[in-house]
Amino acid sequence: MADKSSKVPENVPGPWYVDTTCTPCRTCLEVDGADSLIKWNDDETLVFFHAQPADAAQEAIAEEMMAVCPTAAIGNDGE
Ligand code: SF4
Repeated sequence: MADKSSKVPENVPGPWYVDTTCTPCRTCLEVDGADSLIKWNDDETLVFFHAQPADAAQEAIAEEMMAVCPTAAIGNDGE
């Protein structure tokens, strides 16, 4: 389970975040529409939420990314 006390600082504020357990493995980026919410940092050592879901379709994308992440680095209980 992701830990909101370990969010990577690049995440935009809001409930969805990536924490420091991102390896990064790219699995979440293979979800259709992932790039509308998540992208690499500059040196490609992790991914982060550059936007929060704005509608139900994007919420579904975020939920799917959370489900497929093998390290449980994606959470939705942030602030
Ligand atoms: S699936 Fe998880 S560990 Fe892999 S890149 Fe995405 S957030 Fe990082």
